[in-house]
Amino acid sequence: MTATPPDLPADAALFLDFDGCLVEIAPRPDAIVVPDTLPALLAGLHRRQGGAVALVSGRDVADLRRYLPDFPGAIAGSHGAEIAWQGAPPDPVETGGLDATALHARVRDLAAHDDRLLVEPKPHGVVLHYRAAPDLAEWVDRTMGELASHYPALALQPAKMAMELRPKSAGKDRALSRLMQAPDFAGRIPVYAGDDLTDEAAMAEAQSRGGFAIKIGAGPTVARHRLPDPAALARWLAAALPC
Ligand SMILES: [Mg+2]
Repeated sequence: MTATPPDLPADAALFLDFDGCLVEIAPRPDAIVVPDTLPALLAGLHRRQGGAVALVSGRDVADLRRYLPDFPGAIAGSHGAEIAWQGAPPDPVETGGLDATALHARVRDLAAHDDRLLVEPKPHGVVLHYRAAPDLAEWVDRTMGELASHYPALALQPAKMAMELRPKSAGKDRALSRLMQAPDFAGRIPVYAGDDLTDEAAMAEAQSRGGFAIKIGAGPTVARHRLPDPAALARWLAAALPC
């Protein structure tokens, strides 16, 4: 059973996934729409939580900054492979000497199989989306699985209508653990909101640290709380702020 979450504690450290959580999922990753009210909401939460607000996304940090240029908190991008603070460049990522350009080319070759497939190159990995071709789910799983066997530093990461190769050294749960050691976050109660398979380990981590997790939308989850969609999450977050 997943229940409606309690009020956001003032001493919480807040971890927020981006796609499907703060913004609605779009047919393509570059077609999302950032709600007008989101930047002010995040800035208000950052003040209220004493700076302990982080975005935790599969997107890379530079991409998140394009959508939320004024976000004042920490950003864990590429599933936590990059962590950036207040405008500083992200930490370097351990990728085992990955040639990302060659990897992107290989996946583009694979995607030529069907023009409904979409390749999303990332600095430290790649995503193959089949949102427009749900019948290809099995083919994508198998093909990306075979490709992964050639890249020992990369792990397969299933997501909604997509399969990703990301650095093994990454993981949103690891991002949460690292951020919880930072001065603004240490000693606080972790609260994590996310919508996808990529969020489950971080949700479990938040709960095991005495915090709580909120699953956005339908589907099985380890989270003990649930909200139906990004609009409901925005209302829940806004309720924590003074009017
Ligand atoms: Mg998401």
